[in-house]
Amino acid sequence: MDALFTRLPMAHLEIKQLTKRYGNFVALDHIDLAVEEGEFVVLLGPSGCGKTTLLRAIAGLELQDSGQIVHAGRDISRLSPARRDYGIVFQSYALFPNLNVGANVAYGLNSRTGDRRAARQGITQRVEEMLELVGLPGTESKFPAQLSGGQQQRVALARALATSPDLLLLDEPLSALDAIERVRLRSEIRGLQTRLGVTTIMVTHDQEEALAMADRIVVMKNGQVQQVGQPQEIYRSPGNDFVADFIGRGNLIEATPAGAQHIRAGDLLLRCRIEIDQNRKHRFYVRPEDIRLHNILDDCENSFTAQVLKYEFLGPYSLVTLDAKTGQSRPLVAQFSSNYLDGRPIHPGSILRIGIPAEHLRPMPAAA
Ligand code: ATP
Repeated sequence: MDALFTRLPMAHLEIKQLTKRYGNFVALDHIDLAVEEGEFVVLLGPSGCGKTTLLRAIAGLELQDSGQIVHAGRDISRLSPARRDYGIVFQSYALFPNLNVGANVAYGLNSRTGDRRAARQGITQRVEEMLELVGLPGTESKFPAQLSGGQQQRVALARALATSPDLLLLDEPLSALDAIERVRLRSEIRGLQTRLGVTTIMVTHDQEEALAMADRIVVMKNGQVQQVGQPQEIYRSPGNDFVADFIGRGNLIEATPAGAQHIRAGDLLLRCRIEIDQNRKHRFYVRPEDIRLHNILDDCENSFTAQVLKYEFLGPYSLVTLDAKTGQSRPLVAQFSSNYLDGRPIHPGSILRIGIPAEHLRPMPAAA
């Protein structure tokens, strides 16, 4: 049979066993990643985990020691940045301060046709279109210094998209902006990306940004991929302790078996949804927002009393640190809607009745 028909479909961007060292330090450690066409993939991890190095390697701005990068079926591992097909946006906007907005956006659009006037017209029109696209129509003659941070980043985005690249690379594009502008621009970027269908890889260390924007999140640590999955999957079923701790707050509960579907954690006997192996310890994860607050006399399944150690009001919700006799080294942290807490006497020392519904006791793999 023809080899063409037996070949497995290939991802749009494939990274295979990519490794990068700086001296003895391993910045990328055998990274494998496949990105589908049109996907918005976010590289997420703490400072120094290698996410920028990975993005720069895809762009050809950093040369890997070993491994392969295949884009749209073409091995680009050793190609110069100019011969790869991407647009890039950096954290620091990186606009040319001496060029106006129009010239900044036009930067990558050079005229190669014989008819220079037609080419110039084409560029002017393209710049106009791009500025319209990012919500800054008619700003061609302004200079970067006359624009806010958010507006400069929109110009950088227009410049990156002007050549209709096949891949859009975003290196912490929102982190220099204030909180309100960051939220506004993140939804604009996501909306634009969906409309254009351009395959996008973004670096961030902000979990909320990753959860809000990504089709899939790649969680990294020490140059290695820890987990790849959709936001809900990463949040609801973290693959290891690092991912569980890095994405949102949580409570790890180590427990011993206490019957077919029961575990014991400190003073508590809890029912869970899975069959319990009676011959080993078990680890579960409970998100703070999954802990329920009951009336003090309610006696529901998996409910128990707990003493308030700390109460933090954070606007729409509050965090309550509790001594619940769970036998863990860390106290339990619960998150309740602040409206729901109104009128309840919550202060250090007060006693609450709380519950962990069985479906929210999420099993964790054994510690590495
Ligand atoms: P951040 O969010 O702080 O930018 P990051 O996850 O993007 O972190 P990288 O910039 O990829 O991290 O860096 C990964 C590691 O490689 C870091 O420990 C960094 O110090 C190191 N590193 C990066 N570039 C170089 C370089 N040119 N020379 C030596 N070490 C480097």
